[in-house]
Amino acid sequence: MTDADSSTGPRVFLLPGHDKRVGFGHPWAYSNEIRMDAAAKAIRPGAPAQLVRVDGKPLAVGTFNPKTLIAFRVFAREAGASLDRAFVAERLRAALALRQRLFGLPFYRLVHAEADGLPGLIVDRMGDVCVVQAGTAGVENLTGEILAALDEVLSPRAVVLANESPLRALEGLETYTRVAQGARPGMLEVEEAGLVFYADPLAGQKTGWFFDQRDNRAFVAHLAKGAGAILDLFTYAGGFAIQAAAAGAAKVIAVDSSGPALALAKKAAERNGVAGACEFLKLDAFAALEDLAGRSERFDVVIADPPPFARAKKDVPAALKGYRKLARMAAALVRPGGFLFIASCSHNVTAEAFGLEVAGGISRAGRTGRIVRAAGAGADHPIHPLLPETAYLKTLTLELD
Ligand code: SAH
Repeated sequence: MTDADSSTGPRVFLLPGHDKRVGFGHPWAYSNEIRMDAAAKAIRPGAPAQLVRVDGKPLAVGTFNPKTLIAFRVFAREAGASLDRAFVAERLRAALALRQRLFGLPFYRLVHAEADGLPGLIVDRMGDVCVVQAGTAGVENLTGEILAALDEVLSPRAVVLANESPLRALEGLETYTRVAQGARPGMLEVEEAGLVFYADPLAGQKTGWFFDQRDNRAFVAHLAKGAGAILDLFTYAGGFAIQAAAAGAAKVIAVDSSGPALALAKKAAERNGVAGACEFLKLDAFAALEDLAGRSERFDVVIADPPPFARAKKDVPAALKGYRKLARMAAALVRPGGFLFIASCSHNVTAEAFGLEVAGGISRAGRTGRIVRAAGAGADHPIHPLLPETAYLKTLTLELD
């Protein structure tokens, strides 16, 4: 007897008593909840599979990796659903319809994994180019179907696979970036808030543009209206800095340790006619903070949007110290009555823990103040209602006395 089913792949059995969470709508089953017998262990990592109860009742269709803690990822609840091009295309159409309601222009995160019914898949859209990230072996195996479905739904000029996430190692996957469809796209233009920015998904970080901070950049730009001086730490392609300058800030200092990132930022500053107000410094952010503190420079708004400090759970204690230090040093440079915007994109750091470290840092800097806004990523980064832990981006804006 075989557990294989021609259309939906092998059957994977949940251990007795473990079907409640998935039955309730949660999209994951963990490896210790699955009958990990020889047949299950022999399944190719990331293969399409059916999740069934011990009595054989079908629960879900998805992808299975016997080697990872999150072993089964639910794509569909209908027995007999098959993860083919038509299935992916239907999910893409739904995701696209939501983004088209949210935005007037085609620049957004088109697919945000579990929340869009495509676990492990990220797709960013920059006009007629799509940048895809496969976070799991299941999605890696579906690459052909995803490319065909993207072609059917959007006919993009090019599709780039930006598979650089270090988390891929957990799934047994290599990292690589390549153009999977169309010609090498070159430098891309991204429109946001009436301005033009540049992204290079083949050389860039993540997918080339951080769409998640869109609303937060707009809010900070609002605070920057008519301001004297703004400091944007970890500026990347200049998102916060250039929007602040365009809002009328007299002077913006933008810092990043990456030369290629700063080249994108400078090009955008010129394109948007604010190069005269912007100074770009290739420096370590903490070194820049120390230097500016020594020169008694003070700013109306300080923005600190660092890369993830904790990629793994074991890095969390060091990351928390890092956020406290960043908050302390950044707060010290905010003029009385000015604002500090600080963010954490480490998914292992909770909003509560982040808030405590920010509060501690401000206090260490001898400052008092109030949180005027706490926010996450924009609406094109929806959150699965049963996966609140995937709300990775936490941001706080404080007014300091
Ligand atoms: N604020 C940006 C995104 C920041 S991504 C936006 O809105 O688009 C984080 C950036 O931090 C990257 O550009 C990376 O090059 C930079 N970076 C990483 N470590 C750094 C350090 N120690 N000092 C300064 N910049 C750093």
